[in-house]
Amino acid sequence: MTREIRPMHVKSLINQNSAHYDFDATINPYRGCSHACKYCYARDSHAYLELDIGTEFETILFSKIFSRAQLRRELDRLPLSKVLAIGTATDPYQPLESKALNTRRILEAVRDTGHGISITTKSPLILRDLDILKILAERGQLVVHISLITMDRDLCRHLEPGTASPDRRWKAIDRLVALNIPVALLCAPLIPEWTDQWENLDALFQAATIHQASWVMTGLSHFTPSMLAYFFKHLSTLDASRAKAFQSHFNERAELHVEYRQTLNAQLRTLYARYQLQSSGPGPVPFHQFTQPQWTF
Ligand code: SF4
Repeated sequence: MTREIRPMHVKSLINQNSAHYDFDATINPYRGCSHACKYCYARDSHAYLELDIGTEFETILFSKIFSRAQLRRELDRLPLSKVLAIGTATDPYQPLESKALNTRRILEAVRDTGHGISITTKSPLILRDLDILKILAERGQLVVHISLITMDRDLCRHLEPGTASPDRRWKAIDRLVALNIPVALLCAPLIPEWTDQWENLDALFQAATIHQASWVMTGLSHFTPSMLAYFFKHLSTLDASRAKAFQSHFNERAELHVEYRQTLNAQLRTLYARYQLQSSGPGPVPFHQFTQPQWTF
């Protein structure tokens, strides 16, 4: 599929009003994402650009234009106690990053300012930046979330056609763990009738244990009505009756029924207990460069 990369000038890169995953501030180096996950909630944001939430979200990508000085100014205004999250509305390591290097420049800036940072990605391209990640991890400044919702390679290809296979993501986790970089597994969204089966969830938790993920974060499906309609249409092309079963779990406001939430949450509690895994872990902490212990003689 042909991709079009458009430069995007922005007044500010850091968003301090985001409610995502309890992070204080978010930064997204791109708009649109060629990983093309069919369930992606960020698709709706393409409509604000008068583009469609389907193919155009996957193929018309915006690369934010920023100078080191601008980024540094914004970071200097962000209190050091605030954790920055990268990867909440676009994958910071989607293929475009291999040439654009926006994510790497953000990591370099954070290395210099000392802010805590949380990275969420589905891509092994993150391994390219191990040199910086190791420094951030040694200082306690970093947590990485690798996202994976199914162990089924074919289903993964249908739901997330532009992403790396589950195997490649587990290998990336292995590499990060081997270097003592805190890495958690992110299983979200759990998709009714498609990825919420006990066998799939059990396999994910078991693999997280084997690969020594620090914890497993899970998240139920969350859709806007427009995204639910889009995703339902896609699922219908794969299996119409399973798509209808999926749809039956939502009310007219695109919210999951309470009974479904309760059942799935109970299953997740059982899995956390069975594998002795936590649903969250210690967050990144700021690195106070100028208050490190002084040499004593
Ligand atoms: S990788 Fe993340 S941002 Fe990209 S399409 Fe998938 S869910 Fe959306």
